[in-house]
Amino acid sequence: EVTTAHLDRIATVDERVHAFLHVDREGALRAAEAVDRGEKSGPLAGVPIAVKDVMATKGVPTTAASKILEGWRPPYDATIVERLRDAGTVMLGKTNMDEFAMGSSTEYSAYGPTSNPWDLGRIPGGSGGGSAAALAAYEAPLAIGTDTGGSIRQPGAVTGTVGAKPTYGGTSRYGLIAFSSSLDTPGPCARTVADAALLHAAIGGHDVRDSTSIPQPVPDVVAAARLGADGDLSGVKLGLVKEFAGDGTEPGVRAAFQESVEALVKLGAEVVEVSCPHFTYALPAYYLIAPSECSSNLARFDGVRYGLRAGDDGARSLEEVMSLTREAGFGPEVKRRIIIGAYALSSGYYDAYYGQAQKVRTLITRDFQAAFERVDALISPTTPFVAFPFGSRTADPYQMYLADLFTIPTNLYGGPAISVPCGTSEGLPVGFQVMAPTMGDDRMYRVAAALES
Ligand code: GLN
Repeated sequence: EVTTAHLDRIATVDERVHAFLHVDREGALRAAEAVDRGEKSGPLAGVPIAVKDVMATKGVPTTAASKILEGWRPPYDATIVERLRDAGTVMLGKTNMDEFAMGSSTEYSAYGPTSNPWDLGRIPGGSGGGSAAALAAYEAPLAIGTDTGGSIRQPGAVTGTVGAKPTYGGTSRYGLIAFSSSLDTPGPCARTVADAALLHAAIGGHDVRDSTSIPQPVPDVVAAARLGADGDLSGVKLGLVKEFAGDGTEPGVRAAFQESVEALVKLGAEVVEVSCPHFTYALPAYYLIAPSECSSNLARFDGVRYGLRAGDDGARSLEEVMSLTREAGFGPEVKRRIIIGAYALSSGYYDAYYGQAQKVRTLITRDFQAAFERVDALISPTTPFVAFPFGSRTADPYQMYLADLFTIPTNLYGGPAISVPCGTSEGLPVGFQVMAPTMGDDRMYRVAAALES
């Protein structure tokens, strides 16, 4: 019944929202029947879920919203998808995103954008706009996202939903189509902090098939969310990042954030200002590191191994097949990143760009470590602005990159961070971000759940 209700909801609203690239009706009904027969148990048995189209799903189309993967059906499941299946969740389908997870608005999907259910003329965030919109439109109660620079948290913020980026290595990347391997982190999207914690616990933990997976159990995020829901934060010290206080944040976002800070103080938290001087360089460092890794990762899309292949009608060499395939298969933002990355990694420029960015990354990590000696968690708005109208930030790539100003430092460091709704500005949702030390995922859930209490 629950599955059918969600499939019906998708059939009614998704023509307008376009959260899904593929709905797996038969697969969902089959999985739901298995739960009915008592074959699966546990807290998520029978709960429908939507999965970002960047996760490999056996036999189910997986495109990363790119033309280059059109028609590809993976022969295997990502570890996370396998764990979701074992937990008895019912996969409804695959959600829309910016091509290869590069973007902040879902406008870079090769299959057309997703609309924000709060205002269909506005973006749902990105790159995981489809997963967040599916939650906000009640097409799914849970979803999976991936966060390389903010792609779980920023869509969460602008759609009024919850999105958590786990500690890097706390969730498996096996079967995730790689964008920037040292940053990519799968994680939960939900409508409440408690739901996000349940999903996090189900998908997280060590995976021998991912060499950067942490060989430790996930901290008890479910208990932490329950503790936070009691609304008592006495003894908890929170740090306001001084460098995030400057211009560029919309006044309405700042006001909603400030109100929530006061609410946390009322619950007993102590709030102090903390300086993280290198956070200012996070965006430029990210836009060298992420494109560099992407230029290497995306080399595998060569017209031979997966999906699209151009040039069958006359290409004279393998190189020509590759070049024609990549010309036709990749969108403009993906090409831009590959070119920037190849340039930054080329001999003679490596030290000046990629090498320099890696040093900045270390300095940002040290800022986090110093901050967490003073406070339990850092807090900020998730994103400087609310959902913007379609087309308003596509002309200048830098304007789009600014959406992740507050989320990117966490990815460079590798710690966990969560976005939780904190009111509205001009009738549109605002997100509150809680950042915690690596493997301190439980801490961020406690603070986020208190905010919801
Ligand atoms: N918006 C950022 C980018 O375009 C982050 C993307 C992500 O987290 N996948 O790279």
